[in-house]
Amino acid sequence: MAARILIVDDEAIIAETTGLILRQLGYAIAGQVASGEAALAAVAREMPDLVLMDINLGNDHEGIAAAETIRRQHGVPVVYVTAYTDDDTLARAKITHPFGYVTKPYAARDLHVAIEIALHNHQQDQRLRQSEQALADRAEHFAALLATTRDGVLETDEQGRMLDVNQAYCELTGYARAELVGQPLSFVEARAPSAQLAAQPSELLRLSGTRFERQHRAKDGRVIDLEISVTHLAARGRVVAFLRDITRRKEVQAAREAAEAVFRAVWEQSSMGMRLTDAAGDIRAVNDAYCRLVRWPREALVGQPFTCIYRADDVAEMQRRYQERFAQRAVQERFSRQLQLRDGRALDLEVTSSFMELEHTVMLLVMFQDVSLRKQAEAAREEMARTLKFKNQELERLVYLTSHDLRSPMLNIQGFAHRIAGDCAKLRGLVEADPFSPKDRAAALEIVSRQLPRSFGFIQAGVEKMDRLIASLLRLSRLGRAAFEPKPLDLNAVVNEALNALAFSLQAAEGEVEVGALPACAGDAALVSQLFTNLIDNAIKYRCPGRGLRLAITGEVREGQVVYCVADNGVGIPPEQQERIWEVFFRADPVGAVAGDGLGLNLVRGIAERHGGKVWVESVPGEGSRFFVALPVASTATAGTG
Ligand code: ADP
Repeated sequence: MAARILIVDDEAIIAETTGLILRQLGYAIAGQVASGEAALAAVAREMPDLVLMDINLGNDHEGIAAAETIRRQHGVPVVYVTAYTDDDTLARAKITHPFGYVTKPYAARDLHVAIEIALHNHQQDQRLRQSEQALADRAEHFAALLATTRDGVLETDEQGRMLDVNQAYCELTGYARAELVGQPLSFVEARAPSAQLAAQPSELLRLSGTRFERQHRAKDGRVIDLEISVTHLAARGRVVAFLRDITRRKEVQAAREAAEAVFRAVWEQSSMGMRLTDAAGDIRAVNDAYCRLVRWPREALVGQPFTCIYRADDVAEMQRRYQERFAQRAVQERFSRQLQLRDGRALDLEVTSSFMELEHTVMLLVMFQDVSLRKQAEAAREEMARTLKFKNQELERLVYLTSHDLRSPMLNIQGFAHRIAGDCAKLRGLVEADPFSPKDRAAALEIVSRQLPRSFGFIQAGVEKMDRLIASLLRLSRLGRAAFEPKPLDLNAVVNEALNALAFSLQAAEGEVEVGALPACAGDAALVSQLFTNLIDNAIKYRCPGRGLRLAITGEVREGQVVYCVADNGVGIPPEQQERIWEVFFRADPVGAVAGDGLGLNLVRGIAERHGGKVWVESVPGEGSRFFVALPVASTATAGTG
């Protein structure tokens, strides 16, 4: 595009001519004005590429003044046109840094050369100014960066002497800039002098372009961990270092390493089995305790689905529940469960689980505590508590028996013994009387033949009663003392034995006995035999006088227990007394002439409870009774110990 030129000349003819020449030279005319003022307005309006200014415009160097303003305010180059020039005018014109002079009258060529040189120079000028501006901008930018960056910046010479430091470095170290500038790097380096960078300037230069860690010492003696990157500006003989405070980062890293060490120790030394699984349910890590618990080697577990150790039947359901829980991030605080392993073992476990994010992956940490031993201990404790309760009841029964029932026959014996003593005294008086009258003789005879034998009879009955009670007492105490050894029992054998022992009474009772297939139970042979003997004996004792005894003994497994039933067609028990028959010495109506002491059923209940079982009765007076006994099933576990 043609350069646009503003012509400023108060001589219209010259201005016109100049315009013509310029057009011929291929320039465009941006305007033609005659005064300095008009020139300023035209420049502001037209922004020409160049102003051709008559130096002798008006008075008082009006053209020069206008040229100065144009250059300063608009940066438009001015070429002076002058016919004659005195030194003073020229000197003034020079101050305004014109881009050229043309002397009137001029040849078109001179004008062309002057204008082209002026445009070229102006262009160069502008470029220079632009790059100067860019440089200044960059410097400003850089200064701002140094001022605002949180990294420390140091500039040193090639020997490591500090030439400049930024504010961040001053704040980091607590030094003022003035305290640092001029000092060698060793002034701030916290290492032993031999290892300081300042001691080996070549080392400093060698590290250029790398990033490394060093420690500097703050003014208050604090050691600061720094990450340093160094650039060697060889052309300027300078080294610029950026220093980042990584003390906190190091602390965090140290804390993290410590936490990791703790975690590793807990992981490997814990007695709890620990397993880490990912979203797919694959095992990422297991600890030693886990391997010991499930008896699988670590290599066979890691990378496999966590279900690989479980019974095949459970796997699909386990996987489904796992995915569901994982999706919901649902953890169960702590719960107990039994897991069936593929090798057939069952593990009683207490399980705790939690989700955690490790290296940006969410994983499930599950901790397993083997509680089989604890469960065994708990079972043993329960068993002991049952034994203790049983023994206490025994003690109560014995105390009651001794204090109450042994006492009444004893009082009887005591009373009749007194009476005998009295009768004997009376007899002696009668016999010693002189004369021994026939009346006395009759009285003595009465004593000897009736009163004394009757008293002896009562004493004997009392002694027999005491003997029976003591025998029961012994039976009871044997139950308490005997070692309790439960094992699987063949109940048909036990019941047959009891029936054989009672064969005579059964025959006398014209008994018809029916025994079903009885499931085995876990029990103490002697005690269970005693239990059934008592029940069968009662069925014989409390049979209906008018009809022959019919006895049925059956058994079935119900909810983990064996329930046996001894059913008779005897006298039955009134409903309101059915609860009380289990009490010590209680005898229901009607017992009639049936001998007994009301201890048998108490013993039966004691034996059942000793096994963790129970007893109850269903009975209809006049029709018969059904006595039920629940005892533990003979499990394989019990069989193993038996
Ligand atoms: P005892 O037979 O020595 O009286 P038990 O404790 O064995 O003592 O029985 C308590 C009471 O329960 C008996 O006195 C009797 O009244 C009643 N009883 C026990 N077994 C039966 C039965 N099979 N039929 C009817 N009543 C019974």
